[in-house]
Amino acid sequence: MIDEAEYKKMIKRCLRCSICKWIPQVQIKSQKYASACPAIDVYNFHPYSGGGKIILALALEMGRIQPSEELRDIVYKCTECGNCAVACKFLNTLEPLEIIIRLREKLVDSGYGPMPKQQAYIEAVKKKNNAYDELHEKRTDWLPEDVKVDPNAKILYYVGCTSSYRRKEMAIAAARIMNAAGVPFNILKDEVCCGSPVLRTGDVKSFEEVLNKNLDLIESKGIETVIISCAGCYDTFKVDYPLHRDYNFRVLHTVEFFNELIESGQLKLTKKVPLTVTYHDPCHLGRNAERYEEWDGDVVHLMPLVSINIPEKPKRTGSEGIYDAPRNILKKIPGLELVEMERIKEYAYCCGAGAGVKSAFPEFALQTAKTRIEEAEDTGANTLVSACPFCSTNLQDGIKDKGSKLKYYDISELILMSLGLEPEKLKEATAGVA
Ligand code: SF4
Ligand code: SF4
Repeated sequence: MIDEAEYKKMIKRCLRCSICKWIPQVQIKSQKYASACPAIDVYNFHPYSGGGKIILALALEMGRIQPSEELRDIVYKCTECGNCAVACKFLNTLEPLEIIIRLREKLVDSGYGPMPKQQAYIEAVKKKNNAYDELHEKRTDWLPEDVKVDPNAKILYYVGCTSSYRRKEMAIAAARIMNAAGVPFNILKDEVCCGSPVLRTGDVKSFEEVLNKNLDLIESKGIETVIISCAGCYDTFKVDYPLHRDYNFRVLHTVEFFNELIESGQLKLTKKVPLTVTYHDPCHLGRNAERYEEWDGDVVHLMPLVSINIPEKPKRTGSEGIYDAPRNILKKIPGLELVEMERIKEYAYCCGAGAGVKSAFPEFALQTAKTRIEEAEDTGANTLVSACPFCSTNLQDGIKDKGSKLKYYDISELILMSLGLEPEKLKEATAGVA
């Protein structure tokens, strides 16, 4: 999160170099997969890029343009994937993603943001505690009768809206894995949205209401560790919550937690899973899970376009994201082969769903997913795997729309198979087959 003073300084320092449209040159393996920005790929006009949005921010600040629906539609055509922010560090020290987030906040303040469909899900989060406008009392309907939960456990499995209502197979897989490892865990019958879909739209006031409701609830249960299988929820708890309110429990994504259980021998992956898989790094588990450290220094201008920061400004390059844990898990699954896409880890291309794009601009989300699916197909893998319910939905939509032969699994489902247990979707596929 950047403050107003830093925002005003930063928007003047964009070099207009357009490096933010591409993954760093040394990382480029082919022209086909050199691009970093889904928005510029789909809309192909400079204002949609990270740098282009900075020009809009500056023009707005200088009074050269006014808030409008046209401006809003450009600013919200962005998945907040953060790839522009990583790319920019190779020439400059700007935070295009932080600038875009603040620009959205300004559009909300001036009455133009968020997009109408996003406003609708914000209302659903406020009234029904979930972004899908589903009944709150149905939140734990995903829980199978044979899964054991312990009301006194100090570990909480925070399921999130998407796994609770749309990607139940992920919640079931995570719960069964914890049972298999003998880990006592609890879930909350009255769990509420983490606020991520609200925050990404720039509606900070509504986000803080949701955050307070969520933290009050979790803290009232004396929880010591929160396990999360959604990359968006994880990023919100880990990076965004502390900027608004502190909490005193440990937060882990399921890939971190399950990797620890595998390393300690508590989970034994013994059954062969003969798949060739490629792993999609969710933006919110990868580069965006690295916190931006506020910097309070001086920019000393040496000559036009050349300046230095005193003291040196820490660079958020995205390298501190969670990249090893999912890959360690995949490598431990017997019979499974991992092949990598060209854009991985902090340079991974977005699935296309984030920051309210899936609801407000579904065609943009789908086109981006299909680009990523093609990259996955080009590895020769027969299976695409990731670790986020939101990526799961959009990538599976992309697979279907493209007519791809790729299978899709969440990483927890592959762990389940290697434990000799059957994921829900395989049960569905074999149900009724003699
Ligand atoms: S945001 Fe960074 S990379 Fe993009 S045009 Fe500006 S200085 Fe260049
Ligand atoms: S956050 Fe992602 S989609 Fe948005 S401008 Fe940056 S690279 Fe493009």
